[in-house]
Amino acid sequence: MIPLQLEAPAKLNLALRIVGRRDDGYHELDSILVLIDLADRLLLMPGCSGLRVVDPAGNPVPGVPVRPDANLAWRGLEAGLGASPDDALACLTLEKRIPVAAGLGGGSSDAAAGWRLGRRWRDAGDEGDHAALAVIGADVPYFAAAVAAARVTGIGELVAPLEPVAGTIILVHPPFEMSTPATFAATRPADWSAGAPSGVAEALTDGVNDLLPAARRLRPELDDLMALVLAAGAVPRLTGSGPTLFAVVDGPDRAASVVSRLARAGLRATASAMRAAAASIAA
Ligand code: ATP
Repeated sequence: MIPLQLEAPAKLNLALRIVGRRDDGYHELDSILVLIDLADRLLLMPGCSGLRVVDPAGNPVPGVPVRPDANLAWRGLEAGLGASPDDALACLTLEKRIPVAAGLGGGSSDAAAGWRLGRRWRDAGDEGDHAALAVIGADVPYFAAAVAAARVTGIGELVAPLEPVAGTIILVHPPFEMSTPATFAATRPADWSAGAPSGVAEALTDGVNDLLPAARRLRPELDDLMALVLAAGAVPRLTGSGPTLFAVVDGPDRAASVVSRLARAGLRATASAMRAAAASIAA
């Protein structure tokens, strides 16, 4: 076998509507998801064992489990291999760039990338039972489908690909994490609304996130951050269960000016773009 590499991109929820709650407590969603340029990197190597988690400078990453069975990348890899990576004589390096517990889907994307690498390792393709991967994380079926944009329903297991749209965005990274289960637990039926817009272009303009009221109740400082983004000339939106805010802007120059205004206001912001396609495995 030869080493295999794959990017695991972050996602944005351009729209997230909660349309119901199942008897088992899971919320049913109708969401428009897009992949963005910001991405973790996974490297699967032959002839070794175990998991290594590092940041781009090679340092440990706070908040990301290093115990293999607790790490979503490893769990995805095991599911894709259909065996323990140690038995397959392979080891995994995860280079984290996506902020953790930020609403950007990093753990789920790592799981799906691990699954795709595991499948390739045993010469299988990306097709397979994506819906079953929802047991690892609700967004894993979307990432495993390897499509740039999709309408996702159910609890995340029903993925209908959409035509992607090009667009520049800025991300605002608040200095705190938010737990997805805690934000869902704080939603109230009064926060929920009808179905999501039909496509990516519509969701760019009609970007309602039904989790925003709950996120603001849990973290009232989100209101101040959103006011700062508006003052910097962009319209802030929440991705997933937060706390990352994003705004669609008119190209890279505009993104750079909004990012520098936010930096002067003391906020960490970065420019990114929506992806035209999912990542491919590089050998
Ligand atoms: P989502 O938007 O999909 O609900 P998120 O982006 O808010 O999730 P993640 O970064 O996926 O959150 O992290 C959720 C939790 O999963 C973290 O608390 C972390 O401890 C755990 N975790 C396990 N494996 C990973 C991984 N490979 N990367 C990030 N977090 C991981």
